[in-house]
Amino acid sequence: MFLLLASFFINDSFGHEINQKYTWETYPKIMICPDSTIKKSEVENAIAYWSEELGSKVKYSGIYFPKSCSLNKENTIYITESFTIKHTNKNGGTNILAQTYTASYHYSDDPSVNYVDYAIIKLSPERAHDTKVFLHEFGHALGLKHSNHPIMDAYYF
Ligand SMILES: [Zn+2]
Repeated sequence: MFLLLASFFINDSFGHEINQKYTWETYPKIMICPDSTIKKSEVENAIAYWSEELGSKVKYSGIYFPKSCSLNKENTIYITESFTIKHTNKNGGTNILAQTYTASYHYSDDPSVNYVDYAIIKLSPERAHDTKVFLHEFGHALGLKHSNHPIMDAYYF
């Protein structure tokens, strides 16, 4: 019997696994919320990085700086720094990291294919400009789950 999996594993040239759980059906708008200090160039760098790693260009409809963010509109990746997230690390210490919330949907005729509806990248001001943290969270917004990929390892939220 053939079993369809909801996640797709892609191997990059170094043998790292990329676990693609969701994909975007649309080209998302990327909204840098008023509380975020992320620059357009940091978003463009993340898009270039993941386009290379995924082996195909990450498509998006634009990078915007709206006056407010509702954090619930479809086809949107939000970037916000209004959250302080404390994470207890392996050594029992506390790191202030980041978190990405991903809302998804599927069609009833094919529940094995899941799409991102919208994603909210919640950065802590302390770590917002840590490149690895941002690339990791941006990976989640693109539908990636944790894997042995050096950016998508589970150390980061
Ligand atoms: Zn993570």
